[in-house]
Order: sequence, then C-alpha cells, then structure tokens
Amino acid sequence: MKKNVIIIGGVAGGTSAAASAKRLNPELDIKIFEAKKNISVGSCSFPYYIGGLIDDPKKLYYFTPNTFFNKKGVEVFTEHLVTEINLNKRCVLVKNLKNNSFFEENFDVLVIATGAKPIQLKVPGRELNGIFNLKFFDDVIQIKEYMNNNLIKKVGIIGGGNIGLELVENFSRLGITPVVIEKLPQPAATYDTEIIDSILKELNHKGIEIITDTTAQEYLGSEGKVSAVKTDNGVFEVDMVVETIGIRPNSEIYKDLGLKMLPNGALFTNSKSQAEGYSNIYAAGDCAGVKNLITGKMDYFPLGTTANKQGRTAGNNIGGVLDTYKGTAKAQVFKLFDLEIGKTGLTEAESKSSGFETIAITLDLKNKSSVFEKSGTIRIKLIGDKNTHRILGCSMIGIEGVTKRLDLFTSLITYKIPLEDAKYLDLNYSPPFSTVWDISAIAIQKLITKM
Ligand SMILES: Cc1cc2nc3c(=O)[nH]c(=O)nc-3n(C[C@H](O)[C@H](O)[C@H](O)COP(=O)(O)OP(=O)(O)OC[C@H]3O[C@@H](n4cnc5c(N)ncnc54)[C@H](O)[C@@H]3O)c2cc1C
Repeated sequence: MKKNVIIIGGVAGGTSAAASAKRLNPELDIKIFEAKKNISVGSCSFPYYIGGLIDDPKKLYYFTPNTFFNKKGVEVFTEHLVTEINLNKRCVLVKNLKNNSFFEENFDVLVIATGAKPIQLKVPGRELNGIFNLKFFDDVIQIKEYMNNNLIKKVGIIGGGNIGLELVENFSRLGITPVVIEKLPQPAATYDTEIIDSILKELNHKGIEIITDTTAQEYLGSEGKVSAVKTDNGVFEVDMVVETIGIRPNSEIYKDLGLKMLPNGALFTNSKSQAEGYSNIYAAGDCAGVKNLITGKMDYFPLGTTANKQGRTAGNNIGGVLDTYKGTAKAQVFKLFDLEIGKTGLTEAESKSSGFETIAITLDLKNKSSVFEKSGTIRIKLIGDKNTHRILGCSMIGIEGVTKRLDLFTSLITYKIPLEDAKYLDLNYSPPFSTVWDISAIAIQKLITKM
C-alpha cells in the first residue's frame, strides 16, 4: 500500500527528510507543507547578503517548490500552514494561506520540521519601523529594502552572539557603524573566557563598540522609524536595529500532544530521528533535541548541520533503510573579520558542571611559518577528562586553519580517542599549511603532561 508522508516545514530538516525518503522509496506519497513562500532557505548566508558578498537573493535558497519537485519528485505546498496535528486520527489540518481555506490530510508518517522562531524583545517601541529579526528569508529581504530606502549610518545589534558578531563584520564592510548591545558581561558568551578575550581584542582593534552588561529597555523613534535604543546604561542613537537574541523551537502545533520535550519545547528524538516513543513521528532541525555525545543527554543544538543530519536520518528510515545519527559534538564556527572562531565539545565550565574532572590548557601557537600568507597565531584551548584522558572540548581563534583543526578534535571527541592514542596521529604537513608539529599535536601533548 502507498504510504502517505506529511512533512511540516520546508527548510533544512523538512527538505532533507523528503529528498532522502523519496530517493530510497519513490512509491512514497510525500507532501511538504510550508507556511512561507520560500523553501530550502540557506539562512547561514543571510549576514553575507546583508554585507553585499552575496548579490542576489535567489542565491539564498537552494530550490524553489518547482525545482524541488522536478529534481526530487516531492510536492511542496508553500503558504500552507499546518494548524493542527491529530495523532489519533493520523491527520493534519492545513490552512491554505492564499485563500484562507482549510483541508485535512491523512498521514501514515509525519515529520515535524517546524524549526524555530526568533525571540523578540518585548519593549515599548518594538512596533517602530526599522527593527528586525534575522531568521527567515522575509526578514533579510526586508532588512535590505530598509537599508536601500533609508540612510543607515548606525545599526543597533541587540545580542552579541555568533550571528550578532557576523553582522558586525558585514555592516562594517558597508561603512555602517554597528553598536552591539549585550545583556551579559561579554559577547560570544557561550565560549571559553580565553577565546572571548581574543574576540574582544579583535573588536577593539577594529573600533567596534560593544556595550555589555546593558539591557535594551525601549526603542525610541521619530516619524514612525526607530532612532535610538534606550537602555539601563544610556541612550544609543541608531538608524536601524537587528535583534539577534536567540531562538526557541516552533512548538505551537505539537506542544499539547503529549510528546516528550525539553523545557524549551524541542522534541526528544532517538537516533533514527523519531520523536521519542513513536515509530511513525519524526522530528528534525531547530524544533528537535539531539543527543549530546559527551554528556549523553538530550541537548538543543539548532544549527543547519544538525538539521540536515536529522532530516536525512529521518528520510532514510522512512524510505526503508535503517540509518542512525548518534548525536552531536556541538561543532560550530563563525568568521569575524580576519578571524576564524570555533569550538567543539564542552567548554571548561560545562565540563565541570557536567561532573568531569577537568584539566584545561590554553596555548598561543603559530599556524604556519611566518613567510607565508595568512600566517599568525591560533589560540587553542583544549579540555580533557583526568579520569579517562579523553578530550571533552576544544575551542580556537586565529587567522587561518581553525576550522580544519576543529574537525580533527570533533572526530577525537566523537570516537572517544584517548589523548595518548592521538599524540602521534599522522597529521599532514607542508610549511604553507602548518608547522611540523601541528598546533593540534602540540596541544594534545601538552595536555597529557598535565593529566
Ligand atoms: C542568520 C543565521 C545564520 C546561521 N548560520 C549558521 C551557520 O553558520 N551554520 C549552521 O550550521 N547553522 C546556521 N544557522 C542555523 C540554521 O540556519 C538553522 O539551524 C536551520 O535553518 C534549521 O532548519 P530547520 O528546517 O530546522 O528550521 P527553519 O529554518 O526554522 O525552518 C522551519 C520552517 O518550517 C515552517 N513552519 C513552521 N511551522 C509550520 C507550520 N505549522 N506549518 C507549515 N510550515 C511551518 C517555517 O515557516 C519555516 O520555514 C543560522 C541561522 C541564521 C538565522
């Protein structure tokens, strides 16, 4: 019998699931319902579209509904909002947003890939023009439009996390002065202090104003447009604002179904990307939890990397091939001007609070011989477990070569390789790329001496 597969959400999680399932089993009747006009959106590139490195908004999505149907054979219904899920009757209620009509669709298998919503500041003046979030395709288009139609000299960026800092670089490239307002004592607060110190040094060097320990309390405006951010630490004049203060799972349609969730509303998933306790309900992406490979606990790691893997695992299992995604090491990276900044595993504070007997070192080492282009220092922080001699986490900041080394540490963490087995790993070497004892090997050997 032909199986009906309904997928809610048409971005990374949803389209990955659909494409894999259909490839393995072309007989499946798969429908994607997506509330917005666009699918398969590459949100990770939004800051670079704002900064002008990407010139065409069409480059911000990989497929249109038509090209997805032609290449993957899956029907996509855009501007179709799923308003209700009935697990007993195995059906969803769908609202066609183009004509406001409703209809029901039955499913044998359901994939929840509803993603996340941006958290918005609830302060007076939020309704003024020129205040944006940066989550959806529509957001980035509206930001660009506003920039084109208004003279923007200063932009307020609320929140100094990875995305806020990516925006700092991109607005600066356009000659727009970013003013970052951060509630916490430091930006990039999920990083280890030693890495944050280097980030602050770079921001200072570039003359970027980071106002920390400061809470935005109100947006002030003139002629309906935002003109300043009032905080508990003074008033900052701006011509536009982008809020990047985080996201939360889009749990509206499933939160009352009795599915197991993290406190923020992310669905518990197993290694097949099934919602815990269900064999015909899958969850993928920013609405789903993922197992943390170091702590073994359900965690929330809403990145495109996770969404694609969960989506593909779901799709492969739906398509009839057993596939498992064992979990995340929480590898991540971002660019800030000339620097690559990234981490994998746990920070020192997280290692300690997870109960590990933690040993950590921080070293400043050369990425390659100084005669070569982009030679410089990489600061590496490496964290190990005194009992097992396993690596718990690693973070790095430097001019070039952070990303490849972080991938190595992700592998060591994932496969739980003891430091002693990794110290003479056959890392490739030639002077334009590294030193004969690479940064990774030096750090591993140094950490062993502290164990
Ligand atoms: C500015 C920015 C930069 C980023 N940079 C990186 C990066 O460098 N690296 C990285 O790995 N990740 C990055 N990410 C994160 C990455 O983009 C997300 O993790 C990824 O898009 C998640 O995909 P998703 O399919 O789970 O959810 P989403 O992208 O949130 O998509 C979910 C979709 O579901 C639809 N939907 C929700 N509810 C319903 C409903 N009831 N009915 C119909 N449709 C519904 C929504 O309209 C939405 O389009 C970045 C994100 C942003 C915003």
